Amino acid sequence: MAEEWKLPTGELMKGKRGLIMGVANDHSIAWGIAKQLALQGAELAFTYQGEALERRVRPLAESVGATLMIPADVTDDASMDRAFAAIKNAWGSMDFLVHAIAFADKSALKGSFVENTTREIFRGAMDISAYSFVDAARRAAALMPNGGAMITLTYQGSERVVPNYNMMGVAKAALEAATRYIARDLGPKGIRVNAVSPGPMRTLAMAGISGGKQLMSAARDWSLLKEDTSMEGVAGCALWLLSDLGRSVAGECIHVDGGFHVVGVPEGVEA
Ligand code: NAP
Repeated sequence: MAEEWKLPTGELMKGKRGLIMGVANDHSIAWGIAKQLALQGAELAFTYQGEALERRVRPLAESVGATLMIPADVTDDASMDRAFAAIKNAWGSMDFLVHAIAFADKSALKGSFVENTTREIFRGAMDISAYSFVDAARRAAALMPNGGAMITLTYQGSERVVPNYNMMGVAKAALEAATRYIARDLGPKGIRVNAVSPGPMRTLAMAGISGGKQLMSAARDWSLLKEDTSMEGVAGCALWLLSDLGRSVAGECIHVDGGFHVVGVPEGVEA
C-alpha cells in the first residue's frame, strides 16, 4: 500500500460532503486526495468503474468511513444518471466534486501523434477525459444549492509538447478550457471550479504512457525543486481549492510539479 504519505489532519472539510471519481487503486491521485479530505473531516462518496475495480476501491473507501460506493462509467449516460440519483437519494445535496478520470487508447500514446490518432481514438479520449468533467460538473452543480467547489486533474502536456503524451495532451487542453467555461457558468452560483496539474506520478494511468520512466526522471531532474511530484503536494493543493481556504480562486489551473512548468531550458543542456 502506498500509505507513507504525511497528510495533515484537521477540520478544514468538516461538514462537507463530496464525490471522488477516479480511484483505481491505492496509487491513484484521487485516492491521495480522498485520504487528505477525509483526514480533514470530509464525508466521501466514491464512484468506480466495474466489478473488478469495486473489489479494489471498496476497502479503501471503507477505510475512510465512506458508505456510498457507486458504479459509474462516464461514457454511459444511464450509468451517470444512476450515480447522481444515488447521491441525491442519500445526501440530498453535496459540497464538492473531484474528477480524476482520463483514458486514451494505448496505441495513441506513443510515436507519431499525427499517424496514430484515428477518429475513434480522438473521440473516445475527448469523451472520457474532457467531456466527462462537463457532464459530471453539470450533474454535481444541480446538487449544490448552497455553492461548492470542484476540481479536475490535468497535465502540462496540454500546454507543451511531451513525447508520447500525444492524444492525451489534446484532451487535457480541452479539459482545461472546459474548466474555465464551467467556472464562468457556475461562478455566479457560488461554485468554484479549478484544475490541478501535477507532474508525472507513478499510477496505472501513467503506466499506459510509453517512456513514462524517462518522463518522470526528466520532470525530477529539470524541476526547480529537483524532486518528484509528491502526493502530499497534490492532495494539499486539492484541499486548499476544495476547502474555504480556496475562496476567491476560480477558473485556475494550478501546477504542482516542483516548478518544472516554468523551465525554459533545462540546466545541463548545452546551448
Ligand atoms: P489512475 O489511478 O489510473 O486513475 C484514472 C482513473 O480514470 C481510473 O480510476 C480509471 O478507471 C478512470 N476511468 C477511465 N475511464 C473511465 C470511464 N469510462 N468511466 C469511469 N472512470 C474511468 O491514474 P491517475 O494518474 O491517478 O489519474 C487520475 C487523473 O490524474 C487523470 O485525469 C490523469 O490524467 C491525471 N494526471 C495524472 C498524472 C500522472 O502522472 N499520473 C499527472 C497529471 C495528471 P479504470 O481503471 O477502470 O479505467
